[in-house]
Amino acid sequence: MQVFGLSRTMKRFENTDLLQRMLDVVPAGISIIDAKGNMIFANDVFERIWGGVKLVGIEQYHVYKGWWRDTGELIKPHEWAAARAIKQGLTSYDEEIEIECFDGTRKVILNSAAPIHDDSGAIFGAVVVNSDISDRVAFEDHLRTLSEQDPLTQAYTRRKLFDLLKHEVHRADRYHHPLSSILLDLDHFKTINDSFGHSVGDEVLIAVSRTIRENIRDTDIFGRLGGEEFLLVLPESDTQEAISLADKIRHNLAELSIGPVSQITCSMGVCKHIDGERPNELVHRADKAMYQAKINGRNRIELDSYSL
Ligand code: GH3
Ligand code: MG
Ligand code: MG
Repeated sequence: MQVFGLSRTMKRFENTDLLQRMLDVVPAGISIIDAKGNMIFANDVFERIWGGVKLVGIEQYHVYKGWWRDTGELIKPHEWAAARAIKQGLTSYDEEIEIECFDGTRKVILNSAAPIHDDSGAIFGAVVVNSDISDRVAFEDHLRTLSEQDPLTQAYTRRKLFDLLKHEVHRADRYHHPLSSILLDLDHFKTINDSFGHSVGDEVLIAVSRTIRENIRDTDIFGRLGGEEFLLVLPESDTQEAISLADKIRHNLAELSIGPVSQITCSMGVCKHIDGERPNELVHRADKAMYQAKINGRNRIELDSYSL
């Protein structure tokens, strides 16, 4: 391909630092370091990402603070991509790291570095390229939270709940450990909405969720199946432990008073996982037991018949 007029255009740049201009318009932070790791050039974006530059050699790389995103561990001076480029001649692409900028803010960046060789093949420096992906990561975190956490009650969403349940069922089967579940449905919740309004109903759902969370272990899984229906997954818990927990929750809910609502009761179905059973079968049995609790008068706990 021929580009007409290019040589004339090039001539106009003769006295300007074309490379410098190019580096200042690319949307990535670019720096060049010498063989000792001292920074000899940084473009505007690089300075903007880091909130400045520190002209230090490789021995002082601890002034650059960063953590590996996958492990959360601090990056040691010799582990930086720039250090590996000049010391070992390694090229690294897009390593995702979190950094503490010189103004104290945190960013997530992609960090790349490649050695620069002279004519004899010796390494005389490296080029470091940084891209700030903080906004993208924050947006991804936001989407993940939306898909995993119910915004009203902070309980796991149905989708996340079943993911975690699947995992726990697999573990229980593999190691023959007990696993139990409680399905909880608020009694006459529609009446609360109808009598006091939807926002009071929402407050009740929030308070119920908080109470449940206060009563469970860190390893227990709490999710909202939908509406006023919740599921608890209790790893390492047998039927008796699940019944005790259900009873404790039932008592604590009875003591709640949310604005005009002074009586909050629920019906619960308790169920113990049977070896080899699929997650939805476990939930189905807990649901049947809960339904039985409704039939038997509500504000009570029923145990699934296979879980005795
Ligand atoms: P039962 O004792 O048989 O369970 O009766 P119930 O009234 O609790 O059950 P029903 O299924 O008839 O009504 C559930 C109500 O929960 C109806 C629905 O409008 C309400 N609901 C579902 N999700 C929400 C929510 O996020 N906020 C509020 N305030 N109400 C909700
Ligand atoms: Mg209900
Ligand atoms: Mg319901």
